[in-house]
This record gives sequence, C-alpha cells and structure tokens, in this order.
Amino acid sequence: MGGGLAGLATAVALGSADYRVTLLEARPFLGGRATSYPLNTADDNSTRIDNCQHILLRCCTNLIDFYRRLGVSNKIHFFDEFYWIEPGGRMSVMKKGILPAPLHFTESFARLKFLSLSDKFAIGNALLSVKYEYGKRADLDSITMLDWLREKKQTPRAIERFWRQVLVSAVNEELDRMAAAHGLQVFFFGFLAASDSYQMGVPTVPLSDLYSENAWAEYPEVKIMERRAVQKVVAENGAARRLDTNAGEVVADAYVVAVPFERVMAIVPDLELQLESFGHSPITGIHLWFDRAVTDLPHATLLDRTIQWMYNKDSGKQLQVVVSASRALTEMPREQVIQLALRELAEFFPIVKSAHLDHAHVVKEIRATFSAVPGLEQHRPMAATKISNVFLAGDWTRSGWPATMEGAVRSGYRAAEEVTKFFGEPQRFLRPDIS
Ligand SMILES: Cc1cc2nc3c(=O)[nH]c(=O)nc-3n(C[C@H](O)[C@H](O)[C@H](O)COP(=O)(O)OP(=O)(O)OC[C@H]3O[C@@H](n4cnc5c(N)ncnc54)[C@H](O)[C@@H]3O)c2cc1C
Repeated sequence: MGGGLAGLATAVALGSADYRVTLLEARPFLGGRATSYPLNTADDNSTRIDNCQHILLRCCTNLIDFYRRLGVSNKIHFFDEFYWIEPGGRMSVMKKGILPAPLHFTESFARLKFLSLSDKFAIGNALLSVKYEYGKRADLDSITMLDWLREKKQTPRAIERFWRQVLVSAVNEELDRMAAAHGLQVFFFGFLAASDSYQMGVPTVPLSDLYSENAWAEYPEVKIMERRAVQKVVAENGAARRLDTNAGEVVADAYVVAVPFERVMAIVPDLELQLESFGHSPITGIHLWFDRAVTDLPHATLLDRTIQWMYNKDSGKQLQVVVSASRALTEMPREQVIQLALRELAEFFPIVKSAHLDHAHVVKEIRATFSAVPGLEQHRPMAATKISNVFLAGDWTRSGWPATMEGAVRSGYRAAEEVTKFFGEPQRFLRPDIS
C-alpha cells in the first residue's frame, strides 16, 4: 500500500526475488512526495515540474541501488563541486582535492571565502569530533544539533553559514529542533566516510520518469494499480485477512503498509501505534521562469537569506529555489513568496533585476517530512508489527535515516526482508553504508 519510494522499493526488492506483488497507490501517479506533475493539469502537453527539487548524495547507497534495479541510474547526474554564494555575489567552491578521506576537502576548505580562519579552525575540530562520536556517543538522540555545536564551541558564523546551511536542507529541520544524531550522520557519511560520498546527484528527468512503466517492464511479477485507495486492513486473530479499497477487496498472504505516518492509523487501527511524538516540517519550492539566463551555475547554496538553494533547470532561464524548514513562509501569500525570492536572488545574481519574470509557481509542502526532534527515534516503529503478516515501511519508520528518499528506500528494503522472513526464506536487500 503506497506508491512512494518506500512502497516502490518494497515492490522492486520482492519483485526481483520473484515474489508476486500488487502495489496499490491512491493517486493516479507514482512517487508520493518525490514526484512530478503537469503545471496545468487540464493540458497533457503542459510543462511537467517536480513538486520540489529532490537531490541525493553518493552516500545514499540504497537509493542508488533502487535506481540501478529500475535501470535509471544513467538519469542521475552527479556533481562534484558545491558553490556557496554570499549576498553580493562572492562565490566559494568546495570540492575534493588530492588528499584521501577524511582530509579530501582540506585544500578547498582552506580557500572558502565566507568563513574566517577561526571559523574554519572550529569547524575542523568539530568534524574530528563527528568522526569519533557518531555511532558511539549515547546521548546524540536526546540533545539538539545546536546543543552539540555549542558544546564544540562553534563560532556564530560557523554555525550560521556552514552547519545550518548544510543541515537545514539535509534534515529539513532547524538546528535547535533537530536531534544531534541526524546532524552528525549527515557529516559522517556525506563529508567524511569516503572522498566521493559528498557528490550531489540531481535527476536529469522529471522525478516521475524514474518510476515509469518502462522501468517496471523488467518486473513482470509486480502489478501496479493506481487510483486504488486502501481504506482498511481487516485483521482477525493477529493476522490480516484482506484489504478494503475504494474498488473492492484485495486478498494477499502478506501486506506492507507504506503510507505516511498521518495516514497509517486510519488504515490499520489494530496496530495501536503511539504516534503523538510525530510532527511535520514544511518545505517550499519556488519555480521561476525568466526571459533570459540569470546564471550559468548548475546549482548553488545561498548564504544568509531565507532562500537556501538554487537549482538551474533550463540553461539558467528556469530556476528552482528551495527553502527547507520553511515555517516562515507557510502563512505568507504566494505572491509575496515570489517577490521575496526575486529580491533575494537579485542579491546573488544581479542580472535578476533586469530580467523579466515570465511566470512563477510556488509549492508549499506543509507535510513535507517528519520533524526529526530529539527523542523521536525510539518512537519510530520497526517493519515487523504485532499483526503477523502486516509490515510497515515509510521514511518515518525506523530506517536509521532522517526523512529522505534514502530513508524511504531503506525502510522498503527492510519491510521486504521481513516479508521474506515471514515466508521462511530470509533474503537481504539492504545495501551496506558507504565506507
Ligand atoms: C518538498 C520536498 C522536498 C524534498 N526534498 C528531498 C530531497 O532533496 N532529498 C531527499 O532525499 N528527500 C527529499 N524529500 C523527502 C522525500 O521526498 C521523502 O522522504 C520520501 O519521498 C518519502 O517516501 P515514502 O514512500 O516514505 O512516503 P510518500 O512519498 O509520502 O509515499 C506514500 C504514498 O502512499 C500513498 N497513499 C497514502 N494513503 C494511501 C491509501 N490509503 N491507499 C493507497 N495509497 C496511499 C500516497 O499517495 C503516496 O504516494 C523531500 C520531500 C518534500 C515534500
């Protein structure tokens, strides 16, 4: 149940192990929160946009495996340079140099213009602590990332321009709300584990093309049914017997529920999950179409402003600007959001002032991800449940990752592993972490 990345990953794993899988998705398209749709839904030829730019890092080993299984790895372009721009336009580039991991950033880090020597010294020391504390220190899920950064005596500028800039986007939460465990994990795997683990993957096609019919042709055992909303998992004596859907009953031997946390209890009330600790964090995507190119950079992170990242979608004329943990924009009228983005963009790319904005589109995803607050990990459920043949997947389950595509795929692979265990033929689908 659920055709987001968690459900799709479950299906592709079980399909590749020759299980017969039926995937039921309520909407008329796949991908869940990582999808695309036509700008004008009444016109089939209208431009398709992603609900929001989705990126991955090379350390997302399971997501990369998922794309490989669907035969779409060649549709992800990896970049090995990060561009940091200050208001006024001064740019710094971060990329690997000649030293091996974890020292691969040493040369470019030394040259970053937006940090002072004392900021860099503090960051270098804290990164060493990440290496020694991640996975070993017991209290990382009970303190916030900001607590941890203060403990490591980070300067205000290092916190604002380096840690916050990376982590608010990676975890979709503010430093004073995010559990330190997630922050350290991003740097441990993304920056320190291997010299290429930081490389940023950007799909070269609309997201929904990654899970198109062609991609599924290799898996004849997987039957995908869209517009099939599951209403209830009907269980008796500790086992599920059938599903009630908007188009009749469905009976299976095992059931995987891969819907968001706010939907799960309506579908399987018998699980009696305690989900009070879960809350949402929003993301806002601002799509802008100009009459001329305003940048030739493929992407950039934008310092000290509300807008955080810019992605170049079409030769510099179409940009997508992203604001994570965007509570400040939730109530703001769309026109004001567009004006704010234009005003701020012009501080980084002055040509924006003279360019004409042809049109713009704002997507506010209020329920973008769960909020990765301290203490939440213990409440994230495992894949196996108290109903013997019902399993959970979804970015919010205990994947070991924050709410990301990698977390969703991991949860799907774990649920698939539990299904194979249930049938007495355990198989392994999860890929090891990058090292
Ligand atoms: C704006 C935005 C930007 C993001 N950016 C990034 C990024 O850059 N990198 C990254 O890694 N992650 C990013 N994420 C997070 C990522 O999209 C999610 O973590 C991931 O896609 C969640 O997948 P999922 O399968 O767990 O859930 P979902 O994608 O929510 O899938 C659940 C599916 O279940 C279906 N469903 C619900 N109820 C029923 C029902 N009753 N019957 C049948 N089907 C049902 C839904 O329609 C949906 O398709 C972003 C998320 C958002 C919203």
